Amino acid sequence: MKKMALHTKILIGMTLGLIFGMIAIQFPWLGGFTLDYIKPFGTIFIRSLKMVAVPLVLASLIIGVANIGDISKLSRMGGKTLGIFIITTVISIAIGLSLVAVLKPGHKLPEETRQNLMSLYDATAESKISVAAEVKTRGPLQPLVEMVPDNVFLAATNNGRMLQIVFFALLVGVALLQIPKEKGTTVLSFFNGLNEVVIKIVQYIMLLAPYGVFALIAALIVEIAGDQPEKAWELLYALLWYTITVVLGLFIMMVAIYPILIRYFSKISYLDFFKGIRPAMLLGFSTSSSTATLPVTMDRVEKHLGVSEEVSSFVLPLGATINMNGTSLYQGVSAIFIAQALGLELSIAAQLAIVLTATLAAVGTAGVPGAGLVMLVIVLEAAGIPAAGIALIMAPERILDMVRTMVNITGDASVSVVVASTEGELDVEFAKKHVNE
Ligand code: ASP
Repeated sequence: MKKMALHTKILIGMTLGLIFGMIAIQFPWLGGFTLDYIKPFGTIFIRSLKMVAVPLVLASLIIGVANIGDISKLSRMGGKTLGIFIITTVISIAIGLSLVAVLKPGHKLPEETRQNLMSLYDATAESKISVAAEVKTRGPLQPLVEMVPDNVFLAATNNGRMLQIVFFALLVGVALLQIPKEKGTTVLSFFNGLNEVVIKIVQYIMLLAPYGVFALIAALIVEIAGDQPEKAWELLYALLWYTITVVLGLFIMMVAIYPILIRYFSKISYLDFFKGIRPAMLLGFSTSSSTATLPVTMDRVEKHLGVSEEVSSFVLPLGATINMNGTSLYQGVSAIFIAQALGLELSIAAQLAIVLTATLAAVGTAGVPGAGLVMLVIVLEAAGIPAAGIALIMAPERILDMVRTMVNITGDASVSVVVASTEGELDVEFAKKHVNE
């Protein structure tokens, strides 16, 4: 019998999780059972993926840079990669801002609902704002300062500090390129070996994927429904226009921007691209974490889309850390939505501040669930919008996190395909054979 493809298994896991969750919210005891005995398996699945994130980013970036071979090629590839990251980020924010300006979801929120939401989520909003306050104090150049770890081992203890690991790994890679080859061999083969080991571990973890996503989705439904399912649906319904605006923007990125990018700048068909990357998209959706999904994204791009290891191990760890098109679009839409709902007129300067800070905030957003919401507070403050307004958008946050993470991952994967193609590092024939596996 033909082996079932990974994305089919994951989809089955998700669907069964959805059905189970819907049943569980009808019976309080089953809801409790889901949270106590099913959710932990989802958590174990995510934790195992996160467990390998730091060694993977470290090893793959070091060998990625070292394998590029010479500094001039590195700077060309680096420049290209960063350039496309910035362009796609700005495009995503522009799409978000245009949609929110046309659909005006904030004006469709009844005053009474607005007041309800504000009081309901006030405490949660407060806690996010104080987390963001820590991020944001200490001057405009602080993000730059924080990119440099003062202790590599300390940085490696926190998935939220992935940017510091990226910085260190890039330096090690560059240094390896510049010392005599024979002196670097041991270090390089150590990281090569580490990389292979991590990839093997990821294959073990992926055996759990269908069960992991089942548990995650079932628990998610139970948690969203809470004690009063009707109330949860009511809230979601009240924010339907806002949710539609964000999701529509994310959808446009998926069906227009990435296909255009793939079509004009690579030799792979975008249908094949989506077929190859599907399992990573589904995992991004179920885990809400680009960092947790990174090992799978790398596997799909290399082993199913024919991107060379050299390109994927350079572009993807970098992308999972700094390139978040879905997040920046969400931040742009949410900022304007809140302003509209609070009846604020935004000047051109404030709108530009949103574009700029959403670009930077997406870079600073860690690839973990909910990080985009914390960084949104900084965008709001830069544009002079009261940060307490995030109380308004808390109800659909989990769902939007899932969709935007999926877009973040697809964005990274498409950049890796484009960079590989323009560097002559994309094997289209290989991709044709392996996209469906
Ligand atoms: N969860 C997103 C990610 O991991 C980040 C965000 O919250 O927007 O890509």
